[in-house]
Amino acid sequence: MKYLFGPVYSRRLGHSLGIDLLPPKICTLNCVYCEVGSTTELTCERKEYVPTEEILKEIDQVLEQGPGGRPIDVFTLTAMGEPTLHAGIGKIIAYLKGKTDKPVAVLTNGTLFFDPKVRAELSAADIVIPSLDAARQESFERVNQPASAVNLEQVIEGLALFRREFRGEFWLEILLVRDMNDSLEDLIALQQAVRKINPTRIQLNTVARPPMDSRARPVTREKMEQAAAMLADGYAGRIDILIDFQAIGKKGAGEERQVRKRLALVEEIAAMLQRRPCPLEEIDKALHVQDLDLTRECVQMLVDTGRIEKIIHNDKEFYHYVNV
Ligand code: SF4
Repeated sequence: MKYLFGPVYSRRLGHSLGIDLLPPKICTLNCVYCEVGSTTELTCERKEYVPTEEILKEIDQVLEQGPGGRPIDVFTLTAMGEPTLHAGIGKIIAYLKGKTDKPVAVLTNGTLFFDPKVRAELSAADIVIPSLDAARQESFERVNQPASAVNLEQVIEGLALFRREFRGEFWLEILLVRDMNDSLEDLIALQQAVRKINPTRIQLNTVARPPMDSRARPVTREKMEQAAAMLADGYAGRIDILIDFQAIGKKGAGEERQVRKRLALVEEIAAMLQRRPCPLEEIDKALHVQDLDLTRECVQMLVDTGRIEKIIHNDKEFYHYVNV
C-alpha cells in the first residue's frame, strides 16, 4: 500500500486506518514542532498532488481484503503536510461514506477553511480536527511559520464559519510551545478565538516528539492546566489535556509472538517510523504487539542494520527512521 497505512492505535480516535494524501512535505505551514521535518513546499495551492483514483483503489483493496485481522474504528485522512491541499479530498471522503459506515476523520491545520470549497468538501466527514496554536500574529509566525498567503484573521474566521456549518464533531487542537505561544497575552487571544469558534471539544497539547526545530520545547503541566482553566472561561465544551505519553502495561506476552511473523513486524515498525519518531512503548501499542520484549528485539534489528536510530528528546528515548 502506498497511501493507506495501519490501522494504528491513536489516543484520540482508537484504531485508525490512515490515508496519506500528500508526499512529504507539502504544507501551508512550517511549524517549529513538526515531527515530519521542515516543509519543502510551503504553499496554499490546492491540486491533485497524488492521483485520487489510486487512493480510491487502495481503499477498495482494504475494504475487500480487510486490514489483516485488526480492527478499524475510523478512517483518518491525514498527510505528512496539509491534507486539504489535495484537491481530491472531497471525492475521497464521499467515496468512503458511500462504501463504509465507519466514521471518517480529517486531521488538518485548518488554514484553508476560509475557502468555501474546502468547507463544502469536508462537510461529509464525521470528525474534523483542525489546529490553531496562536491567535496573535507574532506568535503565529513564530510557531507556525506560515506561507505568505496565509492570513491569521482569515484562518480564525474560516474555522468559525466551518464550525457553524458543520454537523459533525469539531475538535480544535492547540499545541503550546514554551516561550513561543504560551504567554498570558497568547492565552487571552486564544481564549477569544475559542469563544468565536466554539469547537465541540478542545485538545491541548505540547511538544511530545522530536521537533523539526530544537528550540521547540514542551510547556509544563502547570502551564497546560493554566491554559485549560483560561480557555474554559466562557466555553462550555470539553477540554482534554493530551500529555499522557506513558507506556501502556504489557499483557498477553507471547500470544502475538505465535501469530505474527517477526520479519513482517520489523517492516511494520520501519514503515511506522518513516512517518514519525516514536518511543518503544508506543510502537508496541500502535502495532498491537503487546510484547515489549518482542518489539524491542525487532527495533534492535532495525538499529543494527542502520535503518533506524535512537535519539533522546526531553529525557525520553525515541526511535527515528534514517533516510539514506
Ligand atoms: S501543519 Fe502539521 S504537517 Fe504542516 S508543518 Fe505544521 S505540524 Fe507539520
